[in-house]
Amino acid sequence: MRIAITGGTGFIGQALVQALVARGDEVIVLTRAIPQATKQQDHVSYLTWEEAADPVRLGTLDAIVNLAGETISRRWTTEGKQQILHSRLQAASNVAAIAAAQPVRPHVVVNASGISVYGSTDERIVDESSPPGQDFLSDVVVQWEAAADRIPADRIVKLRTGVVLDAAGKAFSLMALPYKLFVGGKVGSGKQWLSWIHREDMVRLILFSLDHEQLSGPINACAPQPVTNDEFGRALGKAYHRPHWLPVPAFAFRILFGEMSSLLLEGQRALPKQATQAGFVFRYPAIHEALAAIAQKQ
Ligand code: NDP
Repeated sequence: MRIAITGGTGFIGQALVQALVARGDEVIVLTRAIPQATKQQDHVSYLTWEEAADPVRLGTLDAIVNLAGETISRRWTTEGKQQILHSRLQAASNVAAIAAAQPVRPHVVVNASGISVYGSTDERIVDESSPPGQDFLSDVVVQWEAAADRIPADRIVKLRTGVVLDAAGKAFSLMALPYKLFVGGKVGSGKQWLSWIHREDMVRLILFSLDHEQLSGPINACAPQPVTNDEFGRALGKAYHRPHWLPVPAFAFRILFGEMSSLLLEGQRALPKQATQAGFVFRYPAIHEALAAIAQKQ
């Protein structure tokens, strides 16, 4: 397949590019600025968004994976929130223009989305049929998915992604740091749920979405065994042979991170119903194995 990837320079994107090339696909990374340090690699090329707007230069595409978006791990000031939303709507709109300019519309578009679409779920279990929540991130994801739906393609998959775990990830590094310093513990009540996915499974699920014709619409990209923050901390401590003992009170997080603290103090208890029903098998369904594999690599 010939596949364009936006956000191919990011945490998930880099691993995806390598997986696609390894199986013989041709990849074009669409980026705001071509990285200087990029080493030449067969079957991978880079185009800026401006260059990719020229259909002759871009060439024909079988598929597009749209991962681009401003990080949510930044202060949620008014300006920050605007960038989080606007970057995603703009990327989807640019992808729509690129797809529309193709001589034949792409077979499939895989668009990133977030498990935070469901809002804070407390003990309630959610799947793809559950309604969206009513907070800032839910609203962003609802608008992002609507923008993705406007991309002309035979099939659109929206991967409602949980926290992606791997050593190279910013979220994981932040969560693991207190444990590495022997001061790990639950955050707030520790009862908030965490829907997570190992990066390897995330990449495998993107490949699965590209390949499986029956898959379309919203798909929860999270392991079948979500955990509470307390369980996650215990597993992290075990994986790194460190104690899980020093709780961080919720108010401290609120003071430090403002509204963005909701990323850690609230969460989702989501199940990957559609992916499982379609036959996707997680390599890391349980948190202990996922974290042990990550710790082993470091
Ligand atoms: P990264 O932040 O690592 O990469 C995102 C990419 O998007 C960057 O490499 C960059 O590409 C592009 N980008 C960044 N800021 C902007 C901006 N302001 N405007 C346009 N493009 C921008 O993200 P991840 O790889 O971690 O995640 C990929 C997608 O999956 C994101 O949209 C994210 O929201 C979503 N997701 C990720 C989760 C996770 O745990 N990692 C969880 C849930 C959803 P370039 O510089 O080449 O243009």
